[in-house]
Amino acid sequence: MTKNVCEKCIYCNAPVQGGSQGDHVIPAALGKFRNATNFKRICVKCNSEIGRCEEQLLRCGPGVLFRRLVIPATHRSRGQPRASMTGAGGVPPPEVWAHFPDHKEAVTLTESGRNVVGFDHLVVYDDKDEGHVVRLNPNMSPEALRAAVKRLGLKKIKVTTSHFAKKNEHTSDLYLKIFSQAWPEAQYEQKPDLDPGVHPVPVEFKFVATDLYFRAIAKIAFHYYLTQSMRSLGNEDYFREIRDFIRYGGGKLAVDKFFIGSNIFSFPQFLSNMVPSWWHHILATLERDGTVFAMVCLFYGPECKGERYTLELGKIPGRIVLPKSCWAHTYDYFRPEDIGKYAGKVHPVSITALR
Ligand SMILES: [Zn+2]
Repeated sequence: MTKNVCEKCIYCNAPVQGGSQGDHVIPAALGKFRNATNFKRICVKCNSEIGRCEEQLLRCGPGVLFRRLVIPATHRSRGQPRASMTGAGGVPPPEVWAHFPDHKEAVTLTESGRNVVGFDHLVVYDDKDEGHVVRLNPNMSPEALRAAVKRLGLKKIKVTTSHFAKKNEHTSDLYLKIFSQAWPEAQYEQKPDLDPGVHPVPVEFKFVATDLYFRAIAKIAFHYYLTQSMRSLGNEDYFREIRDFIRYGGGKLAVDKFFIGSNIFSFPQFLSNMVPSWWHHILATLERDGTVFAMVCLFYGPECKGERYTLELGKIPGRIVLPKSCWAHTYDYFRPEDIGKYAGKVHPVSITALR
């Protein structure tokens, strides 16, 4: 019998066009990997809707920092432009704070992701001493500045400090004029500027993750499992809850339900304290005692052990005793000098379950 019928989308049941390449398990913005298995049971419409989650993962999360270091070659363009730190899905872009001996200052990453530079901004401290950044530009009106501070929605403002990136008296004067028009009552205190040049200082990277962020991780985990195990198609009733979470979200309660705190996967790499010499992602999944687990670790590399998420995707019903089935792959990036058509290649690794 020839298999001539279109497969159905596991999310909306619409036919998925036969012959389609399928969708990347690891988002395309992270690169095109040789030997990667694509997931073929999602329609274009659902994929683009759920793709909003990946925007948050890659533009508002730590991924944006690591993409600058790795610069993956994607299927769209070789040497994809560097990741921009923009907000997505109602979430602000990540903040980078440099810790100087006596204070901390908001900064931005340079193109290479290796250094930080200053930019013109105000830091508004609330009554808990938490700093909130307001970007400045010399052409803004006092009304626009007041509105930007108001948008922070702070009940109480403790103190506000300003920082100008350029040592340009003309710019400083302009800003002081805008400030005094925006808040005529306020007092201004001039602090000494930092010495220009390179300062090796620790940097803190702050990002906001909503359920969009976790839905993107869950999608990677679920689709990876479905490309590995032959047991489930993905549209089964026992996966309804994880599908609904990926498609519609569900807030913190849902995140806590699927993201389990404990790590149940063991890799030789994770057992040692060594970090790898170059960057990769690790995906793993296993079926045990009727429960499907998966792990997503993005950007495991020379400077970072990566954020490791372990998920419980669902329970396969029935009395069938599952053979112990584990699958794991690493998505290894090529070194920048080796990048051509692919950003890297995928190969299987062995895993064991810890409990
Ligand atoms: Zn669909």
